[in-house]
Amino acid sequence: MKRVGFYYDDIFLKHHTPLWHPEAPSRLVNLINSLKASSIWNELIHLKPKIARFEDIALIHTEYYIDRIKNARVGHLDADTYFSEGSLEAALYAVGAVLSSIDKIKAGEVDRTFCAVRPPGHHAEAHKAMGFCIFNNIAIGARYAQLQGFKKVFIIDFDVHHGNGTQNAFYNDNTVFYFSTHQFPHYPGTGSEDDIGMDEGEGFTYNIPVVAGAGDITYSRIYNDILPPIIEDFKPDIILVSAGYDIHKHDPLSTIRVTNDGVRTIVKGILKSADVPYVFCLEGGYNIPALEDCIKITIEELLYS
Ligand SMILES: [Zn+2]
Repeated sequence: MKRVGFYYDDIFLKHHTPLWHPEAPSRLVNLINSLKASSIWNELIHLKPKIARFEDIALIHTEYYIDRIKNARVGHLDADTYFSEGSLEAALYAVGAVLSSIDKIKAGEVDRTFCAVRPPGHHAEAHKAMGFCIFNNIAIGARYAQLQGFKKVFIIDFDVHHGNGTQNAFYNDNTVFYFSTHQFPHYPGTGSEDDIGMDEGEGFTYNIPVVAGAGDITYSRIYNDILPPIIEDFKPDIILVSAGYDIHKHDPLSTIRVTNDGVRTIVKGILKSADVPYVFCLEGGYNIPALEDCIKITIEELLYS
């Protein structure tokens, strides 16, 4: 059995969104209640995130943007991204969960972690909030990991939406590999298979756009056959995963139709690809019962796979 750190804090509930908004605190409230009632709760090492410093945030985001968020008023940052009174604190701790994961892995206290955080991060660009995301949790985590000695970082993003912010952060970089599967065409419209990186980063971005309805068979082929040799070639020191469960067949924001078994196949495929530390960080997933099932499945695999 692996030593799996689980990050959650009630601070994540302080990020409020309007009533109609799918990215709501109830996503985590229901998840935690359901996990507590299950046997895997006691198998986890329960950890509290640290707060990310603004100098950590600046590993990815511009000073101008950080100032804008520090001084933001309650309201919309973009059409979909809402900022409430507790949003800055929640966002700093969401990043902090990923940073703290890397600290604990480096200290040899855990092998793998799951960060049950909100707001999510992978759409956030260096200079702007986007698509429910304020700070790019995974991208900041990748740079922080490098500072801690994990020189080569592989990012896997299986959220149903393309992680435009993460891709852009490392587009010219051959030390951070970005691999994404996402519904296409779909929000945010980026992530064509022709996007393969630029300059030194050419060949270090790998997008697999997936058509609506593709389902488990397509995902099984990608995560069992295509992904493992790419990881083997790159030889990462650590793997960070943008875990978005809006791929699920019951999710209201997509039509990719992956089942619970499909999610298990994806996570197994990822974990068999390399014997390195893994940090999974929650991105999307908006059908609450499906989100609970998918995270339980992920944690089971993190523990026993
Ligand atoms: Zn998503």
